[in-house]
Amino acid sequence: MKNLKINKTNSLHARFLLLVVFISLILTSISCNNNEVNNQTKNKINNMNNEMNNNSVLVNKTDSEWNAQLTKDQYYVLRKKGTERPFTSKWENNYDGGIYSCVGCGNELFKSESKFDAGCGWPSFFEALDSTKIKTEIDKTLGMQRVEIMCAKCGGHLGHVFDDGPKPTGLRYCVNGVALNFLKK
Ligand SMILES: [Zn+2]
Repeated sequence: MKNLKINKTNSLHARFLLLVVFISLILTSISCNNNEVNNQTKNKINNMNNEMNNNSVLVNKTDSEWNAQLTKDQYYVLRKKGTERPFTSKWENNYDGGIYSCVGCGNELFKSESKFDAGCGWPSFFEALDSTKIKTEIDKTLGMQRVEIMCAKCGGHLGHVFDDGPKPTGLRYCVNGVALNFLKK
């Protein structure tokens, strides 16, 4: 009787261990898949980064020239890498058809077709108008590692790009609305 009890307990332990191994395998598989997606997106951003950094900035102005040309808020975001308060941009809920351009130099950056509601409080796009419009740089401020996006023509800070966007790119260009002009078409 005692032996039977021990065997029964051992059998329960064995089943429990099998269950744990099975769950671990599933979790590992899910986590590997995520890593694969994240790495793919990171490679995409890195490739884009290398491509973009080969382009030099075409519009060069002094700090005081930018200060005179831009409003206080535009200057703070574009030239001092500031961030506008979330949910304050006039473009956040704008879904008219048209083109968004850099407020500093007029460089056309995003099409309205790539705009989506990310719910984050800033105008968001899943792709740039084309790959020459925006340059990127790794931003390690605020204890985070983010990918900064800048206008490729004047070097003005626009915001950041993240890898949690919708299809087809999986990217989310999170842009300060104050850095953008909109031309309705
Ligand atoms: Zn610009």
